[in-house]
Amino acid sequence: MKQWIDKLRQERTLRPEEFRQLLTGCDADSLRIINEQAREVSLRHFGNRIYIRGLIEISNCCRNNCYYCGIRKGNPHVARYRLSPESILDCCKQGYALGFRTFVLQGGEDPALTDDRIETIVAAIRRHYPDCAITLSLGEKSREAYERFFHAGANRYLLRHETYDATHYSQLHPAGMSGKQRLQCLQNLKETGYQTGTGIMVGSPGQTVEHLIQDILFIEKLRPEMIGIGPFLPHQDTPFARYSSGTLEQTLLLLSIFRLMYPSALIPSTTALATLTPDGRERGILAGANVVMPNLSPQEERKKYTLYNNKASLGAESAEGIRILQQQLHNIGYEISFSRGDFKTVDS
Ligand code: SF4
Repeated sequence: MKQWIDKLRQERTLRPEEFRQLLTGCDADSLRIINEQAREVSLRHFGNRIYIRGLIEISNCCRNNCYYCGIRKGNPHVARYRLSPESILDCCKQGYALGFRTFVLQGGEDPALTDDRIETIVAAIRRHYPDCAITLSLGEKSREAYERFFHAGANRYLLRHETYDATHYSQLHPAGMSGKQRLQCLQNLKETGYQTGTGIMVGSPGQTVEHLIQDILFIEKLRPEMIGIGPFLPHQDTPFARYSSGTLEQTLLLLSIFRLMYPSALIPSTTALATLTPDGRERGILAGANVVMPNLSPQEERKKYTLYNNKASLGAESAEGIRILQQQLHNIGYEISFSRGDFKTVDS
């Protein structure tokens, strides 16, 4: 196994068959080695600094019915909300005072969040906080809409493809949603000029090693600036309620694979990882992640944005818990970077 880890670090890619061996034959010892190698690469490129992004969950309304998602349209148990522009600006104000210089506006594909409305909100944040990065994570939109948001001041866009394989995509999403469309959106985002993020759920129902290899090769081709890797976690009110979570080990393995393939990428240690296991955030960082996204949403709304069971939103997962986060990072030898943390290509 060590030979593939060394080769991946040196050549930043493997043949499909070699990826297959790494994904199927990685025991605890090999996982420790690849996590260490990925950590070294991350330390070399970013030092011991972890970028923070202030996450604002602007709406839990969604027109879609993804089988894995707790806020899917078909879940009648969700108390729906949509933040007003004033409330969003208020979150930014609080975040700015705490030191955040990136705001991530995340939400379902909410029909009431029209392109006009999003454009207006982005422009207002841009006016008030010219030194901050604005990241959007609002799902599939037209190319024109992406361009409008970009010109209004958005810099980055997160849109996980979830799975590259069309059949697997149709196992995770109802008819009417198309993996092809998702991939086209990613292409449009790249061409518009966004720092673009994509990624997958690890261990989603029906996922095979062959799917993961396709995902790795797709990400290699797309070359996104941000890569989001988190475990699948079931939500009680979805068709996938009875499926098991993705594993910590496989999530950490994939995280390290992407760090070795792509030393400059911005890779978060996700809330899903922190939900899966109490020290998940730290484990993600020690496997090569370099970003965390504490929650800046109003406290009364946080529990309503439940994509999966037991989602962490307090303590170090919250913006007001930044001291706890600082302490947790300090305990593993890292510090928060309060810079914007834009993507930069680094050669070595
Ligand atoms: S995953 Fe996104 S698009 Fe799908 S139902 Fe949930 S919020 Fe909507």
